[in-house]
Amino acid sequence: MFENLQDKLDRAFKVLKGQGSITEINVAETMKEIRKALLDADVNYKTAKTFTDDVKVKALGQNVLTAVSPGQLLTKIMNDELAGLMGGTAIELNLTANPTIILIAGLNGAGKTTFSGKLANYLKTQKGKKPLLVAGDVYRPAAITQLQVLGEQIGIPVYANLESKDPVAIALEGIAEAKRNGNTVVILDTAGRLAIDEAMMNEIAAVKSSTKPHEILFVVDAMTGQDAVNTAKAFNDRLDFTGVVLTKLDGDTRGGAALSIKSVVNKPIKFIGTGEKMEALDVFYPERMASRILGMGDVVSLVERAQMQFDEKESAELQKKIRKNKFDFNDFIGQIQQIKKMGNMKDLMGMIPGVGKAVKDMDIDDNAFKPIEAIIHSMTPYERENPDAINQSRRGRIAKGSGTNLQEVNKLIKQFDDMRKVMKQFSNPAAMTKMMKGMP
Ligand code: GDP
Repeated sequence: MFENLQDKLDRAFKVLKGQGSITEINVAETMKEIRKALLDADVNYKTAKTFTDDVKVKALGQNVLTAVSPGQLLTKIMNDELAGLMGGTAIELNLTANPTIILIAGLNGAGKTTFSGKLANYLKTQKGKKPLLVAGDVYRPAAITQLQVLGEQIGIPVYANLESKDPVAIALEGIAEAKRNGNTVVILDTAGRLAIDEAMMNEIAAVKSSTKPHEILFVVDAMTGQDAVNTAKAFNDRLDFTGVVLTKLDGDTRGGAALSIKSVVNKPIKFIGTGEKMEALDVFYPERMASRILGMGDVVSLVERAQMQFDEKESAELQKKIRKNKFDFNDFIGQIQQIKKMGNMKDLMGMIPGVGKAVKDMDIDDNAFKPIEAIIHSMTPYERENPDAINQSRRGRIAKGSGTNLQEVNKLIKQFDDMRKVMKQFSNPAAMTKMMKGMP
């Protein structure tokens, strides 16, 4: 699901790849791409615009962390905003009443009957409830048979009255039957139509007012994109439902419905259908769905961890030192400690998309920093602050003191010098320009 949207968002993020910071210009460009990707996924125009505007404001207000790239930071912001767009946190069904009455509404073919069965099965197996299914589609005898077959399959009783053509009466009879038999949940499947139609709305509204359901779930086919959103709006205006069920998310849906419904009707998506089988039902978690849409591994938790460790003041000071070419071995070891604080190396690398699988069986030595730290610790405070003063005889002493050898000490000092040179160049725009001009 959402492969297309994923690809396009991926491309949008590439604009930021290799950029040193989030600026007005590169964010604007990235947002343009993201908005295009959302519109292509059939997200409502207004939703897409508000969304990208919000992300932009958040992105520009962020500090750029040394530990993460602007692309990664933006992924995290996008993830939070996408989750927010879909409702933030998961909203559970209200199952406190006994019996709890749940009315199922939606157009024909949306998946109402299938969902009624799935929901009964879920409530029985996951929530320890004793559901009764009520067949309320008085126009299609086949729909009643379909529900009976499902009920048999999952071991849930079905109330039906083939003699009656009155949906309100059938619903009330079903509730009475549930009370008699000690059922704790009543699921009322109702008749749909091919399109929004006044008679259908009146009928469902009548069932609602006479049964006073605790939950009204609107079932809609995610493959229908913007139509799904419009239908949701029409049903909500009339029924004021309590939640949305998005079905057929296993197909190649473009995802627009999942992203726009909450912001258009302001009702949470509570479940998603992911197949025809009775088990193919998931509680809807906005955050998980956002990560799935972004398909970005665990970049989000990587950034969260980095943000937790990030000290703004420290970073500003470091920047100043780099600019003045005063970055020394004390700062260097500080950086190593920062990285170590962020967690086990392998864990960290595993969070980078595409790398996780590759490092799974690799033996990464968490002690890789040990010799480096030993060398730096064997330096005198004067040496740490004045790396240029570390001559050959000092190097020999440091090697001995740290239990390493001259070669390793030379290697580290060379790496440190190279690093300083690069850092200096990046902090000096004039030098950068000169360097770039020198490039072919
Ligand atoms: P109703 O007219 O609203 O009661 O819709 P049905 O429950 O009869 O479903 C219509 C068709 O969609 C049936 O063929 C179902 O098997 C199928 N269907 C329902 N939910 C899903 C789903 O989540 N995924 C897939 N792939 N098919 C579904």
